[in-house]
Amino acid sequence: MRISFDLFDLEPSYSSEILDYAFIICTMIHEFGHYLEMHNDQQSSLRGDSILKINSIVRKFKTMSESNAEREGAYVTEYAKTSWDEDFADTFAYFVLLDECPEPGVSILGDKVRLFYKYPEFVEIRESIRANIRKLGIHPNMSRDELKKLDIYPSTSDTN
Ligand SMILES: [Zn+2]
Repeated sequence: MRISFDLFDLEPSYSSEILDYAFIICTMIHEFGHYLEMHNDQQSSLRGDSILKINSIVRKFKTMSESNAEREGAYVTEYAKTSWDEDFADTFAYFVLLDECPEPGVSILGDKVRLFYKYPEFVEIRESIRANIRKLGIHPNMSRDELKKLDIYPSTSDTN
């Protein structure tokens, strides 16, 4: 038996689109954000507990996220409110997709994005993802047909 589904048919149960980029695009960048967040540059494991490294962006972000949780304009999506690490991943996607660095002090979200700009390795990763996005022809408000043509969908019904 073969189970087949189209990632396009997976409807998010929460608002998760960022800057009018399709759910699938936001999700891929979001998941990559988790990879960076869990990388051993950021945290280490001690007897099963994860310890956020001193001066890591993750540690600073967690403090910023948790201490501003109740404030207006602190989150890029509804989903980001679920925990600091989901906030990290969604804010990372927003940092990547947003064209310009926000002005300081305008919003909590803007200041969270500015935190990413303080880490050159994150700025470099951002540039690299954006270059690939341009190369693939990804832009906001893509139609289902345009997205299908990108050939980025792992399809379980393909026989390779
Ligand atoms: Zn996540």
